[in-house]
Amino acid sequence: METPVPKLGFYFPQDSVAAAWLNIETYEWAKHRFEKLQRICNTFLAQYPDEKIYQCILSMHSQTFAYGISGCPYCRKSFPYSQEIQNRMFAPFPNKQLTCPNCSRTMPDEKLSDEGQGFMHDGMAYYPVGMWNFHTAGWLLGGVRDHEGMVTKLTYMYMLTGEQKYACTATAILDAFAAIYPGTLGPRDFTPFDSKTEMGRLHLLTSIVYRIKVFLAQNYDWLYHFEDMETPSPALVLMGEPGTIRDNIERMLHDYMLTEPGGPVYNLADGNLTELHNHEADGVRAMLAVGLVTDKKEYCDWGIRATDAFLSNAVGRDGMYFEGSYGYSMFTITVFLDMALLSMRAASGEPQSAPHPFANERFFRFAVQNPMEMLCQGHLPCYGDWGADRICGQKPDIKALTDTYRAALHFYHFSPEINIRKEASNWLDRLYPLICGQLGDKGMDLLLQHPSRTQPHSFSLPTGVTIAGQAGIGILRDANETTALMRIGANHTHAHDDVLGLNYYAYGKEISADLGYGIYGSNSHFGWAAKSIAHNAVVVNEDNNMKKGQLYKSFAGGEFTFLYRSPTVTAYEGQAPALYGLDAYQRMIALVPLPDRSSYLIDFFYIRGARTCDYSFRAFHEKSALTLEGVRKTEKDSWTLAGVEGEARFYFNQPGKSFGERLTTGETFSPLLKGEKAQYWTPVPNNGYGFIYDICEYKPQLACVKARWQSTEGYELIWHGLLDADDRVITGQCPNLEGTEHHPLLVIRSHRHVKQYAALIHTTKKQNSLRVTHLQRLPVRGGETIAFSAEVGDGQIDFWAYSPTEQTMLIRTRFGEWRVEGRCGFVRTDQTGKILTHACIHATSMTFQGIKMPGKKSIWFPIKAIDHKKRAIRLDPHLIPDDADFIRIAPSTDAPAALYAVKEAYSRKDSATVMLRDSFSLSKGIVASCEKGMLRTQYPLPLGAAFQGKLIRGERGGRGLVEEVSDLKSIRIRVLAPFSQGEAFDITDIEEGYWAQWL
Ligand SMILES: [Zn+2]
Ligand SMILES: [Zn+2]
Repeated sequence: METPVPKLGFYFPQDSVAAAWLNIETYEWAKHRFEKLQRICNTFLAQYPDEKIYQCILSMHSQTFAYGISGCPYCRKSFPYSQEIQNRMFAPFPNKQLTCPNCSRTMPDEKLSDEGQGFMHDGMAYYPVGMWNFHTAGWLLGGVRDHEGMVTKLTYMYMLTGEQKYACTATAILDAFAAIYPGTLGPRDFTPFDSKTEMGRLHLLTSIVYRIKVFLAQNYDWLYHFEDMETPSPALVLMGEPGTIRDNIERMLHDYMLTEPGGPVYNLADGNLTELHNHEADGVRAMLAVGLVTDKKEYCDWGIRATDAFLSNAVGRDGMYFEGSYGYSMFTITVFLDMALLSMRAASGEPQSAPHPFANERFFRFAVQNPMEMLCQGHLPCYGDWGADRICGQKPDIKALTDTYRAALHFYHFSPEINIRKEASNWLDRLYPLICGQLGDKGMDLLLQHPSRTQPHSFSLPTGVTIAGQAGIGILRDANETTALMRIGANHTHAHDDVLGLNYYAYGKEISADLGYGIYGSNSHFGWAAKSIAHNAVVVNEDNNMKKGQLYKSFAGGEFTFLYRSPTVTAYEGQAPALYGLDAYQRMIALVPLPDRSSYLIDFFYIRGARTCDYSFRAFHEKSALTLEGVRKTEKDSWTLAGVEGEARFYFNQPGKSFGERLTTGETFSPLLKGEKAQYWTPVPNNGYGFIYDICEYKPQLACVKARWQSTEGYELIWHGLLDADDRVITGQCPNLEGTEHHPLLVIRSHRHVKQYAALIHTTKKQNSLRVTHLQRLPVRGGETIAFSAEVGDGQIDFWAYSPTEQTMLIRTRFGEWRVEGRCGFVRTDQTGKILTHACIHATSMTFQGIKMPGKKSIWFPIKAIDHKKRAIRLDPHLIPDDADFIRIAPSTDAPAALYAVKEAYSRKDSATVMLRDSFSLSKGIVASCEKGMLRTQYPLPLGAAFQGKLIRGERGGRGLVEEVSDLKSIRIRVLAPFSQGEAFDITDIEEGYWAQWL
């Protein structure tokens, strides 16, 4: 066998073939994968002679491509997403038909004919031929589901076997698509019927063009020396145009480059960078791939620098990607790994190039460590724009594990840092036994050598607390692994308006049932699922400042103010007053494990300065019924939540007209009423309230109101709330994204200027016997405090007290006075009052029945010295707390504090040293100009909204303080020492003289 020689081997170098054969000989999965690849390719060659390939692909010329999100024109149901069912839906070439698996009608047919341009039917656009083209092109060239189409599979077979037949057919597919590619518009689902707006190429929507292009460039790299390349292109001949196959393929590679018509605006020309979002990242990796394979040096140079900018500024010091959804982080990791690999290849042999991407610890944390630390009962967190989490069970997410293994494999092979390689190798050991059955789905699996297992490392799910300090994501896990996730970080691109919202996991389910996200810009996405009221949060003043089309409120981030961990209680508090410009907007969450493996959750939500507060709560993705206890129904006069105040007469505020009742397939409304649009449309007011319908209103009759959700899967959630007499209890129904399911929702509306919500939430399985009963409010001395007792089964009584400010709380209990010095305390007694356990959650001390219980003092230490290289700060000597995992750092003790993860801390005689795990740099840049207090930087600062007051440290001595990041590349600064053009700088939030406090 003769091994083919690539032009460059920029993605898979020539020795990857030997690595693949070694894998095939060593590993069962690799052998399996190879045999499967061989079978698929040989079957394809037998069924699709080149002539038929050309006919099939050229038949798509001048026709549409479409996902088919409008569903079936006959039964109006959406088509199944499953690849397996889809494969059976479509007839083989030349019959361009599909059969609806739901109603079994075949289309196009005589009644609904399609000449390739689609048709309008009952006011909706349908594209059956476009769907056939989409499916077939995805299969042949690669598409949104599988980036490695037949062309890539055939190229792999050619690489592995050297057999010309594979190269020949792969080249034919490339050639045929290249001929029809220029001038195509991308899928048609996202523009009005007949619109000529460019949304990508062929079946590939905007940035997906780039994803696939990396593979096409890789294919071309290995097919480069194939003898037919210089012959006239058969595809072009059929279309009556001149050109060789090589010309044709290279023209395709260079088409639709540097900008992305139909997607978010950016332009990579001249090395320019715009926003550093995931689309732009996809653009960069395609630019690098095409630059490498076609010798376009400027593409390589721009790409190397862009990679540096992305790794430094699109990922924060905590290794968290900025876009506001963990799903997007996971996806972006795959983009960055490619980008880093290609940038490394482009830089090899170049003197004076950018830092090695795989030497970057922040990148390693982003791609390998964080995904494993963020898991919530084994699930990937689902906040922001990502699919709803309907998984049941606590098995670690196998896809996340497999992707992490692949990321670790990259670092293992390519990192020049021994420590990173070593840790990567440990992760490979740990993950391999769990994921080896998944390997082989990507060519990378086969073509990168897998190390043999060295020592036994076992995998376990994360426990305890995870906090990402810059992104502002906090995850609490208690002894029962019940998990609560709260976000206090800045809102970016793919965020939902869910600051201080609660994602809550028990029994391996995301109980809080975040609606998630399906189609960007759909009416569900823009108007409903992203909205604050769709989350377990508090909406202030009915979100009446939300503008048309606005997804979330602009917000630079809040603070985690305290954290408490013990086997009995896990608690933290987040504050985000700037979200609404209030005096206070803060939530304390605590998890308390009970002996039957259930846990209850304490929720204190405090708001000062609002006119109206709406505390909203939902539970369960599955069908559930909500019943209330302790309330009396009032006369209702509004159909939707939007009309409850009765001030405005909304056209949608009547049965049948609410948005919630009209949501349908494609996440749009049926019927569309006057003035509404099918996509990118938001109602007035844009607060999601018009989606919540069938409103009932109640008055509290008891001090403690119970709301009980009973799910069809045998779970029960009881929300015990301590209400004020003037609270309004509201229930309604709300839809999922396509209106196929409707769930009950609870809203507690208050008009108080100062409002304290207090609730105990307990989820049980039907067979559990333990129930929380008798929540009783307790009298307290001290302003704005709340205290209660709860009987929690087994004869235990739990006492809770909370205050939004530091003070002395005197709580009257049936066992005498309980005194709490501070803000939050917990005591558990038996029925006789004997103290069983306690927690000074945020209190310096507590006294109960004459027993004094000491707590922790929150001391601020001045920062004496910092070492940027070692990421160390030096403080006065003191006793380092046992759980010294996080430290707060602020310019002064009353200023907002930044939260840092700690790697190591020790105290010696003269000083204490704290080594931080997070990088010291928030972001970096290169000075383009600095005049009149305006610094322009070449690297955009997507995290810049939170940089006010931060320091800029230039490598040539420039110093400044950020006054405002006015746009992504302009910083208004107070200059402390002048900057020069081209000076590289870091933005940091730690300086000598600042203050530190253990969280
Ligand atoms: Zn149908
Ligand atoms: Zn959400």
